[in-house]
Amino acid sequence: MSPSLPQEPARAIEAKGLIKRFKTGRTHIEVLKKVDFDALHGDVTMVMGPSGSGKSTLVATLSGLLKPDEGAVTALGESLWRHRPGRIDRFRLEHCGFIFQGFNLFGALSALQQVTTVLKYKGYSPEEARLKAEIALEEVGLRPRMHQRPAELSGGEKQRVAIARALAKEPRLLFADEPTSALDGENGQVVIKLLQRAAKSHGAAVICVTHDPRLEAYADRIIHIEDGRILDDRRTTPVASAPVRPTVPHSASLGA
Ligand code: ADP
Ligand code: MG
Repeated sequence: MSPSLPQEPARAIEAKGLIKRFKTGRTHIEVLKKVDFDALHGDVTMVMGPSGSGKSTLVATLSGLLKPDEGAVTALGESLWRHRPGRIDRFRLEHCGFIFQGFNLFGALSALQQVTTVLKYKGYSPEEARLKAEIALEEVGLRPRMHQRPAELSGGEKQRVAIARALAKEPRLLFADEPTSALDGENGQVVIKLLQRAAKSHGAAVICVTHDPRLEAYADRIIHIEDGRILDDRRTTPVASAPVRPTVPHSASLGA
């Protein structure tokens, strides 16, 4: 980062020296080989690499889902892996949104219920949860479909429900793991644009891992990973474009 910048942008997450090994039979394979990583609020940080390069493992260690064998993660100023598991779960619930390739929706719940359930866990009253969920579904263009269950929705619509669910809790960190790989080009574009909006208008740090080169155009920064190592790290937009601001009430941020 250029030292001439007037102000250091807010770093949402930073990892140093991440090592993760998996045991397979009698041998260990090292999947993350001393990975350093960081991401800024307001940026779409894209981690690209071939299948098996360690992308999902990286996301899991950054988001408190999988403890690295070595290294440290500082997320929103907190040293994540120093906390007890319950506290890490709480951190995830409070601050992290997740979007996966397979949507991860509950089959029996309507689009609206998928979103309100998470909000109730976060402590909102049923009325507040319903209001916030409707706003989030509106933002992804699904308010007219909010009473449908996943089986009645297309792949693109399902992913938009997952995005609404993630965004409704106003996460400061939004992790997306291959969010477009089950979608056609057009729906993929809708999804990545929504992720971009989460970064630009909500100031979230969006960390998106993918092997889909069509998404590169939407990144502020592209990091290449191969065989558990970062090969290169390149900004494609000026840092100043990142709006750095504290969490704003969701309804206020949607007015624009
Ligand atoms: P990517 O998301 O880039 O496709 P992953 O992070 O899923 O890569 O996996 C990286 C490597 O680690 C792969 O070789 C995979 O087989 C291996 N791996 C991932 N999870 C486990 C696990 N739980 N046990 C053993 N090996 C694993
Ligand atoms: Mg993966």
